[in-house]
Amino acid sequence: MSLSDPVKPHRICVCVRKRPLNKKELAKKEIDVVTIPGNGALLLHEPKQKVDLTKYLENQTFHFDYSFDEDATNDLVYRFTAKPLVKTIFEGGMATCFAYGQTGSGKTHTMGGDFSGKSQNSSKGIYALAAQDVFTLLRQKRYADMDLCPYVTFFEIYNGKVFDLLNKKAKLRVLEDEKQQVNVVGLQEVPVSSVDDVIKMIERGSACSSSRSHAVLQVILRRRNFLHGKFSLVDLAGNERGTDVSNNDRHTIVETAEINRSLLALKECIRSLGQNSEHIPFRMSKLTQVLRDSFIGENSRTCMIAMISPGMSSCEYTLNTLRYANRVKEL
Ligand code: ADP
Ligand code: MG
Repeated sequence: MSLSDPVKPHRICVCVRKRPLNKKELAKKEIDVVTIPGNGALLLHEPKQKVDLTKYLENQTFHFDYSFDEDATNDLVYRFTAKPLVKTIFEGGMATCFAYGQTGSGKTHTMGGDFSGKSQNSSKGIYALAAQDVFTLLRQKRYADMDLCPYVTFFEIYNGKVFDLLNKKAKLRVLEDEKQQVNVVGLQEVPVSSVDDVIKMIERGSACSSSRSHAVLQVILRRRNFLHGKFSLVDLAGNERGTDVSNNDRHTIVETAEINRSLLALKECIRSLGQNSEHIPFRMSKLTQVLRDSFIGENSRTCMIAMISPGMSSCEYTLNTLRYANRVKEL
């Protein structure tokens, strides 16, 4: 893939990553409906039918900051998305990176990586790659004298409730004070001294997180106990709609409604930020409420990676994902 070096990040970066067709899709001879010609462009070939029932593919073109094809590695995706944001937290800012997409599109592969040993090439995801760079920068002369201490938190938001993935899934309360400072009461902030420490936390937390929840890993830098910078890495809940409502039980319907509401809230917040709007609707969901302090401030950076499955049977979801990503682009 030909990509130029990442430029200085603007406030909101929106990218798309297409995964390869998997074994199941290949066995079913699924057609790949996504082409990535370069320069951030992406073509979706949507199957359509004319009135006389002849079938054809309708091409739709999208443009993003970067579009990654199926050959892109986690390392490459990281280099152009989250990596430029690591410096932000050393400079006293806030950074957020979201993985968005339908279940099975590659969110957890991209964020958490694969340490299972089942896959031939076990690879680090953005969580570990970002942690690696944090420790590299901590050792650099200009930051080494700053007395910065790294911590990790890992929690999930499920049905509008927060659970601590590093503390037996304890249910946590979210309090907002009169200055609109949001506090997740009792959230474990674990001190870490190496990438391996962080990977242990990732493995521990991932083992009990659910794909119907938003998982948030935060790397926090403290300077003499005061918050200096924070990088929130978010593996969002699958964005598939409960299309066939009759097939779902009440529990699933409530769950899906909550996921849709929070993803809508996230979109609205990122859009408001991009437009420098006065009012940002953080209170629309627990997700945006909890991430409030990561969004605001002069020196805050956001990156969204929209994951897509390339198969024709996923086309409807893929189109939804691309439209969502298109809406959060900075105007
Ligand atoms: P999600 O978290 O979005 O539900 P996963 O990350 O669990 O999806 O991915 C589903 C499956 O596809 C996993 O087996 C994962 O290893 C595989 N996969 C996802 N993205 C890629 C990729 N870019 N290259 C190879 N395999 C991938
Ligand atoms: Mg997942």
